[in-house]
Amino acid sequence: MSKKIVTRFAPSPTGFLHVGSLRTAMYNFLFAKANKGDFLLRIEDTDQTRKVKGAQESLLKSLEQFNLDWDNKKIMVQSERLKDYQAAAEKLVKEKKAYNCFCSKERLDNLRKVRQQKGLPPMYDGHCTNLPDKEIDLTKDHVIRFKMPNSGQTKFNDLIRNKVIFDNKLLDDPVILKSDGFPTYHLASVVDDHEMKVSHVIRGEEWLPSTPKHILLHEALDFKAPEFAHLPLLLNADRSKLSKRQGDVAVEDFLKQGYLEEALLNFVLLLGWNPGTDQEIFSLEEMIKSFDLKKVHKGGALFNTQKLDWLNGEYIKQKSLPELTKLCQPFFAAAGIKTDLKQLEKVVATEQQRIKKLSDIVEGSEFFFKMPSYDSKLLIWKKGTVKDATENLKVLLEFLDNLPENQWNQQDLETAIKKLIEEKKIGVGDMLWPMRVALTGRKNSPGPFEVAEALGKEESLARIKKAIDLLS
Ligand code: GLU
Repeated sequence: MSKKIVTRFAPSPTGFLHVGSLRTAMYNFLFAKANKGDFLLRIEDTDQTRKVKGAQESLLKSLEQFNLDWDNKKIMVQSERLKDYQAAAEKLVKEKKAYNCFCSKERLDNLRKVRQQKGLPPMYDGHCTNLPDKEIDLTKDHVIRFKMPNSGQTKFNDLIRNKVIFDNKLLDDPVILKSDGFPTYHLASVVDDHEMKVSHVIRGEEWLPSTPKHILLHEALDFKAPEFAHLPLLLNADRSKLSKRQGDVAVEDFLKQGYLEEALLNFVLLLGWNPGTDQEIFSLEEMIKSFDLKKVHKGGALFNTQKLDWLNGEYIKQKSLPELTKLCQPFFAAAGIKTDLKQLEKVVATEQQRIKKLSDIVEGSEFFFKMPSYDSKLLIWKKGTVKDATENLKVLLEFLDNLPENQWNQQDLETAIKKLIEEKKIGVGDMLWPMRVALTGRKNSPGPFEVAEALGKEESLARIKKAIDLLS
């Protein structure tokens, strides 16, 4: 029987959820689900100085929001497991695979400076590696360091990058237990991956330099190391490393701007992976079916906002009108526009095919809620004259005034007005252009019939009247 696939997402509760972390969570989730395995969650909060209040709750909420459900209701929280890490570190010391280090901050700072001056990488010099017993006073401030080999290589087969080789002599003896009894990331990560029976560690490329340390720690603790897969970096359009500014990368800020969860997830899926077909839109089920870790790219993944906008627009088009209206409502409310859902629905219907983000809805449809102001010249169609526009609008006004209320809908309006145009032998543009501008005050907008329906009879007539006044 082959080993059960277990992956984990291991965020540190240090602030907002980064889009890159959403991708990491998602790839771990997809890989586990595609292989009938488990996706587990672990909170890496051993660096208490970086812990942000409320961050853990908001991380969990985000995962739930994106339907990245984790297995095992119990979440592993590292700060609750200090004894296990301490026991592991002490075991390593007893077996002489790790050692107590009493070096002061001043000594380490100085060491770093001297090495920098010599152009050497800032590494610990092994000063405490073989202290005689009489110099070991555990009542004094100390840390525990893991002893790395000074020669040879550490090799592993990364599932995305294939063979990766590190020269051991370039690897520092990492601190694994701090003087306050808290483990560092390296030790906690290895102990927990073993404890959780993680079979595959899938994480960002920035963790690649830590991996040889983790592999050697697994060996030293007589654990079997999991498989590793390091995901490509996210890059700006100019190929620079993706910004760290919250407003550019925080998942919650994307949602606030009116990107839909499904679209964001779909976009993130394609950051570094594609199915090798033309398919770009995926439901979560389809993602699970098609995802293949082996096809994740090695090279950096471009964060293309235009693509995100396009995808979001596609998801917006697929929404039912009532659902989309509900999603848009907070954006209207924030702009001080308060109307009932029925009215809003009509407005949203005119914009559904055009908007890329929910927030676009307000800008695109402001004219529905306010009598527009515009230059009267805009009312004149191509080669037409002021006189043509005035006369045509007058004809239209009289006609619409007599149109029964029950015919005030897009289809009936279109049929009736087109018939009128024919009868009166007026050019289509000579009538519909001034009509649309009279209703919207804009050069570009949804068509005149849908706008008229959404505005209602009374408001439409008032706007046409205003246009006629403007022209005279
Ligand atoms: N806590 C690390 C992070 O915040 C996890 C790294 C790992 O997956 O090993 O990204």
